[in-house]
Amino acid sequence: MTDSLGALPPLRDVIARHGLAASKALGQNFLLDGQLLDRIARIPGPLDGEAVYEVGPGPGGLTRALLGAGARVVAVERDERCLPALAELSAAADGRLRVISGDAMEVDEAAEAGAGAHIVANLPYNVGTALLVRWLTGGSWPPWWRSLTLMFQKEVAERIVARPGSGAYGRLAVLAQWRSQARIAMSVHRSAFVPPPKVMSAVVHITPASQPDGVEVRTIEALTGAAFGQRRKMLRQSLKALPGALTALEAVGIDSARRAETLSVDEFVQIARAM
Ligand code: SAM
Repeated sequence: MTDSLGALPPLRDVIARHGLAASKALGQNFLLDGQLLDRIARIPGPLDGEAVYEVGPGPGGLTRALLGAGARVVAVERDERCLPALAELSAAADGRLRVISGDAMEVDEAAEAGAGAHIVANLPYNVGTALLVRWLTGGSWPPWWRSLTLMFQKEVAERIVARPGSGAYGRLAVLAQWRSQARIAMSVHRSAFVPPPKVMSAVVHITPASQPDGVEVRTIEALTGAAFGQRRKMLRQSLKALPGALTALEAVGIDSARRAETLSVDEFVQIARAM
């Protein structure tokens, strides 16, 4: 490699020199521990020559780790204060980093990053969940992305991988599991961040699986929205207003006295198929 990543100053110096005090409003909690960042960058698998789409690079700690693993990175950052630091990183990476200044919610990421890119992000919780839902509910499957490696509050990570019957099981679990595999790849202590957030974090790794035949994402979205919208109610009540849902329940032999949180992901798929 002809890059000069190894000669970059420590992240703390970059943050001090560019005045990047973490902004609470932008949900900024930075990771500065190079070994931890390298471990996160290994979660998607070997990245040498692979395309990565990173959301919220901030001062560029995770970006450095991804570039160090040999990836070509497209990164979108909303905080313009970070751009000069990221430009230095781009220069050191010999053209393997392209930075987009803007809001990740408004970027056409598939066009920017290209099909087959791995998505990696350490994002504020609300933006992260909104983007996750967007990536999971794409109309075409397999999706344009190859894998998702996303840092969340631990409680949100647990909701993504939750199994039926647990309090954490809900719409997010079904959306993440009906045509993908989701696991918690790493727990991250709050003290690893600068400044430390109030709660623990975890990195979730998601890879696409095959989409069950005869089921559309719109139906799964509507079904889980209705079922978990009133999660304490029996299905006969929560699904009453969803056209075709009660007939579908009966057709697949699921008792309408059950509640949403007792249904397996596969049972949701069966109901959606019958709708
Ligand atoms: N990746 C860096 C790290 O691990 O140290 C920064 C993580 S910090 C939790 C989240 C970053 O996402 C911040 O740099 C913040 O400015 C950026 N961000 C927040 N909302 C964003 C959005 N809607 N689009 C793009 N970046 C965003």
